[in-house]
Amino acid sequence: MPTQTYDAIVIGAGTGGYPAAIRLAQLGKKVALVEKDATLGGVCLNWGCIPSKALIAAANLVDEMRGAADRGIIAEPPRVDVAKLREFKDGVVKKLTGGVALLEKGNGVEVVRGTATVVGPTAVEVAGKDGQKTRLEAGAILVATGARPIEIPGFAFDGKDVWSAREAVDLPEVPKRLVCIGGGIIGMELGTVYAKLGAEVTFLEALPQVLTGVDPDAVRLVQKGLRQRGVAVHVNAKAKGYERRGKDLVVKVEIDGKEQEIACDKILVAVGFKPSSAGFGLEQVGVKIGPKGFIEVDPQYRTSVPTIFAAGDVTGPPLLAHKASKEGEIAAEVIAGHKTVRDWVGMPTAIFTDPEVAAVGLSEEEARKQGYDPIVGKFAFGALGRAIAIHHTEGFVKVVGDRKTKLLLGASICGPEAGDLIAEAALALEMGAYLEDVALTIHAHPTLPEAFNEACRAALGEAIHMLNRPERPRKGEAGAGARA
Ligand SMILES: Cc1cc2nc3c(=O)[nH]c(=O)nc-3n(C[C@H](O)[C@H](O)[C@H](O)COP(=O)(O)OP(=O)(O)OC[C@H]3O[C@@H](n4cnc5c(N)ncnc54)[C@H](O)[C@@H]3O)c2cc1C
Repeated sequence: MPTQTYDAIVIGAGTGGYPAAIRLAQLGKKVALVEKDATLGGVCLNWGCIPSKALIAAANLVDEMRGAADRGIIAEPPRVDVAKLREFKDGVVKKLTGGVALLEKGNGVEVVRGTATVVGPTAVEVAGKDGQKTRLEAGAILVATGARPIEIPGFAFDGKDVWSAREAVDLPEVPKRLVCIGGGIIGMELGTVYAKLGAEVTFLEALPQVLTGVDPDAVRLVQKGLRQRGVAVHVNAKAKGYERRGKDLVVKVEIDGKEQEIACDKILVAVGFKPSSAGFGLEQVGVKIGPKGFIEVDPQYRTSVPTIFAAGDVTGPPLLAHKASKEGEIAAEVIAGHKTVRDWVGMPTAIFTDPEVAAVGLSEEEARKQGYDPIVGKFAFGALGRAIAIHHTEGFVKVVGDRKTKLLLGASICGPEAGDLIAEAALALEMGAYLEDVALTIHAHPTLPEAFNEACRAALGEAIHMLNRPERPRKGEAGAGARA
């Protein structure tokens, strides 16, 4: 078997692996990047973040066109050419995955096509499509193999009637009726796309609420938006299985303990992701894997085997692309001999529902649990000039600060461009900003980020475009005021 020697081997070219390979090359290392799929970029670029956002933007456009009469714009009811939209989305993916390939090449990273098996603490075997095997050796290995959709009993993915996120993003068609099992971020985003493109969508969520862990005020607005678009959302709903009856797929579900049947044309199962950590040699070389299958790492992304590192979805939640790339880059720097370590203050999340939702840092509840006495400032987009002008007034910016020091602890945003707006809050957190720092920063007018400025001012009792009411005393704490 031919053997090649490198400074580092990266397994997996997703957002965990591909930036790490580039970073290693920037730091002067000879790198092999092993990928089994035909294109680079992993889930995020091929059938995750990027294509789903291309579809979401297109679906939003259709939705806006339907509502344009409010602003005196009279158009024919929009019609969606699904094949053309798919072609557009595929083009977006091609451009970006091709871009990654060029970047790897330009940085001198050697892309090795095939499936990797770890055969020793410093050795990997790659089986190419043609069955040819190559042995790669390096002082360090970075595992960034990601995660894949979880299948549930009674709903085996068949790529035709029962979709995972992968098929849903592929956009084979817009079914007349879609049942979406799972009201998490991915299910909600994709279900909203199909609803806007014209499908009758029904969500079945086993837990008592959708979007668990998300600001409840934001969840309420997302649910309101879905209701307005005719989407049914059932919580405490356990999908049991389905059967084919004539042309229909009939989903059996227990909602609040009662058996029901829902007829549909396609089923999307989006109940979560499981790590790809098994079956390629990690256990054999002694890499410790936790009970849920995630690889255990230290704050430098080193596994229990000192020469083997891991980054991205395979190391555990939150399963986010920007987390994966940050982790991969930290691991790359450590492998290159730098003293880098995980030390971020906040990991932002952006959810591309309607309205969008984003958050960074601590919620009020989390702040209290960490021993802070939180003060909260909230500013509604309904009071913001820019939001009114663009006809997107739903939502709010909420900030949490420490009452004593006025240090900013977190922010959550629900409303137009929330995913973009959260960046300023993330920067403020990383810089250790106080509420006053944001309040004193001049924000251009009229813009959406003014809502973040006003929310910080509201926490200080100094907002201009809303009435600053004294904080309502919390139970057992009479007299707690916003200006405490
Ligand atoms: C529909 C959808 C929408 C999403 N939207 C967002 C979003 O808006 N924002 C966000 O932050 N995140 C989003 N995500 C999550 C995001 O895609 C993941 O967090 C990200 O892809 C994780 O990157 P990774 O490198 O850890 O893993 P992956 O992207 O899964 O990459 C792992 C790679 O390793 C390869 N591989 C695995 N095993 C081997 C092996 N043995 N040999 C060789 N190669 C191997 C795989 O083929 C794959 O290419 C979304 C996910 C989905 C499904």
